[in-house]
Amino acid sequence: MGTGGEQGRPILLLDVDGPLNPFAGMPNRRPDGFETHRLMPPSWEAAELARLEAWGRPGKRPTPLPVWLNPGHGAELAALPFDLVWATTWEAEANTFIAPLIGLPELPVIPWPVPRPTPAGKVFWKTPTVVSWAAGRAFAWVDDEITRADRDWVAENHDGPALLHRIDPRFGLSPEDFSLLAEWAAGPR
Ligand SMILES: [Mg+2]
Repeated sequence: MGTGGEQGRPILLLDVDGPLNPFAGMPNRRPDGFETHRLMPPSWEAAELARLEAWGRPGKRPTPLPVWLNPGHGAELAALPFDLVWATTWEAEANTFIAPLIGLPELPVIPWPVPRPTPAGKVFWKTPTVVSWAAGRAFAWVDDEITRADRDWVAENHDGPALLHRIDPRFGLSPEDFSLLAEWAAGPR
């Protein structure tokens, strides 16, 4: 049930933290080409306020969330032969807070079930939702939490081509990752 898009074009599912925001290098190993932003998405603010209250510091203002983004990534992603879709816990906040900073248009968003799914074994909690959302359509997925268990689960449960590509959250999307995605989209599936 991908929305719109060119017939036959695969989907590229985008995680924010890891591929676009190489958070694992924080605070002092920001990769070349990235810029620092301090964001206050409502979900972050609410979680911080709850945490401060739980710590007995209800009067304290929440600290903005530091995010590293590469301003070139939007154009590079848009140039790939995919329909882009957010697959991130940022959900709709990715459109409000992330997309404008890297030059992406508003994208469709995969909504996650609440509470989070608890698939068996080592399968990532996003994976069953991703597969049901793709509904058999070819997809590539970039996320820092993909493992072999997810590739196996997708092979068993997704009736179509899929590329599950783990991104190192210390570095984010690299030129090699963009090449791999372009090659996969262009190649036989
Ligand atoms: Mg992530």
